[in-house]
Amino acid sequence: MGDEKVMSNFQVQNVIKLLLNHKKGEDKDEKWPEKAIKSLVKKLRGLSGNEGIDLLLNAISQKDANTNCIKIPRSLDGRMQVSTRKGMPHVMYCRLWRWPDLTSHNELKSMDHCIFAFHLKRDQVCVNPYHYQRIKTEEVTNTDTLKRGRLKIAKAFLLSFCIARDRLAKIVDV
Ligand SMILES: [Zn+2]
Repeated sequence: MGDEKVMSNFQVQNVIKLLLNHKKGEDKDEKWPEKAIKSLVKKLRGLSGNEGIDLLLNAISQKDANTNCIKIPRSLDGRMQVSTRKGMPHVMYCRLWRWPDLTSHNELKSMDHCIFAFHLKRDQVCVNPYHYQRIKTEEVTNTDTLKRGRLKIAKAFLLSFCIARDRLAKIVDV
């Protein structure tokens, strides 16, 4: 199926331009978004013909969660390098096409129907930015605060326990 459809360099350039038009925000390194897109297109070319590229174009232009997974091979440590930056691929492309201020994978939750979501640790990983939802940072912060709060209580409890034990030991000694 796909083998007959070899993309010309001209077509590839057009695909990259089209995808670049959908990027959100500006990057400190203005060349970086194009590099990241080129790198993704390169990974998708040759995987079941150009099906991956068609799926990517579809997802990015439709901006719809009801699109297919866009799979790339998972690297050994799960991260991907583009130019001098290394990061988790789904975070990279969610930042590029949806949330420029995204800081970490902790802010992302995959959709239930995404069968190649990053956390599933399959040998391929889905980078469809519309297969991930953003968890509000307050929720992340709140959980952190909550965790820290619980830790404080646990520490205080342990401390009072130790004090009580020491007192008890003194009484027993006497
Ligand atoms: Zn997916």
